Amino acid sequence: MTKRIYINKLSEKKQETVIINGWVNVRRDQGKMIFLDFRDRSGIVQGVILPNSSAMEVGKTLREEFVVEVTGKVNERPEKNKKVGILNGDIELEILHISVLNESATLPFPISGDTREVNESIRLKYRYLDLRSARMKKNVENRFKIQNFIRNYLEKDGFLEIETPLLSAPTPEGSRSYVVPSRIYKGSFYSLPQSPQQYKQLLMVGGFEKYFQFARCMRDEDTRGDRQPEFTQLDMEMSFVYEEDIMQLNEKMLIDIVKTYYPEKKIQQIPFPRMSYKDAMKNYGNDRPDIREDKTDANLLAFLWVVDFPMFEKTGEDNVDGTGEWTFTHNPFSKPREDDFEKFMRKEGIGEILTTQYDITLNGLEIGGGSIRNHKPSALRNTFEIMGYNTERIENNFGHMLKALEFGAPPHGGIAWGFDRLMMILEQEPNIREIITFAKTGDGRDLMMNAPAEIPEKQRTELGISVIKSSL
Ligand code: ASP
Repeated sequence: MTKRIYINKLSEKKQETVIINGWVNVRRDQGKMIFLDFRDRSGIVQGVILPNSSAMEVGKTLREEFVVEVTGKVNERPEKNKKVGILNGDIELEILHISVLNESATLPFPISGDTREVNESIRLKYRYLDLRSARMKKNVENRFKIQNFIRNYLEKDGFLEIETPLLSAPTPEGSRSYVVPSRIYKGSFYSLPQSPQQYKQLLMVGGFEKYFQFARCMRDEDTRGDRQPEFTQLDMEMSFVYEEDIMQLNEKMLIDIVKTYYPEKKIQQIPFPRMSYKDAMKNYGNDRPDIREDKTDANLLAFLWVVDFPMFEKTGEDNVDGTGEWTFTHNPFSKPREDDFEKFMRKEGIGEILTTQYDITLNGLEIGGGSIRNHKPSALRNTFEIMGYNTERIENNFGHMLKALEFGAPPHGGIAWGFDRLMMILEQEPNIREIITFAKTGDGRDLMMNAPAEIPEKQRTELGISVIKSSL
């Protein structure tokens, strides 16, 4: 057991001899004296090796990022050398002894400043070094703090965090799913979830009533804009609720997060305003309007609920299945609005049927969305029929959901937040990669681990797969 003291606790140890562990942040050799800044997870302190100190010999060999154990005396700085407002600005560590725990090669980029200025491919290749920088460390810490806050918040409200499988069943609808070959059942594949949607609804059938999960979602989409092949949702589902219950709970939680962790920020309007999809399209030309009154104010948060989306839209050219005239706009499991339910069941005026879907947007970005679900098998089946699926297809792909709804499924609904995107806005970062500890590039590559990558022939044979190489 070391008796190491964290660097941010040193000023409580004035006049004492202490041990710290960490990295050499900066080294300034002034000949007779050497100044060394040390860094650990908690902060930075300036140390000095005085002339004739026995630590001088080791001190001369130190380079930046060497890992050290330092024994030193915490001295109060003379009044004129005190730096106000910075950690350890009032103290200095008089270095008595240094052990080198590990050496370091010269870093490929400096980590003492804002690494956003460094070429991003290099940062991603050496992400573990990028993470040593103060800003990245803060982002990772704040992400954890807010996740922890949400977990406690929801637990107090009776929610359970429940894990759902990553290895799931492929469906033709999930054409943008990643698949995993099964070695035992050659030629068969698991599919990685694009969201835990079906599992969380089945948990409602399972009687849990209030579920949440920080869920990893995987989507093999064409890489455009600020996307990651895997990202994190705060996923929730509740039984015996209406839209209003879910919206109010989420709104309150968002407000509490901002007030607790970002007191310098201002929420433009509470309760959050609401806008229909129709008005959003008419007045802003998109379904996630930026309603900020002052777009230059970095601390302004303008939340907005967008509601009254159409439930179906005409299948366009990118219709993956090629059947039917209509497809769902958001989620095939959504329920139509009460007023439109009869029309929906009669399959009339399809284009005018509105869904219970609610999206939450922040400063012009969608940060979440959800709906009340069709909890009766006849209603869910009706959605698939409207989309032109034949009985066999409905049975093959959704038979398990329809079956589950036959056994007393409670009315239920939920929501999922794009957690990375929310954190990105709160931390004022330009993209979600700054918020994801081990991010992939915008085009889906992991430059540090080198993925995706080919697998050897032997492994392919064992998995029962053969590969058609792309001609690109
Ligand atoms: N599963 C949905 C999604 O990923 C969210 C929801 O409706 O709860 O967008």
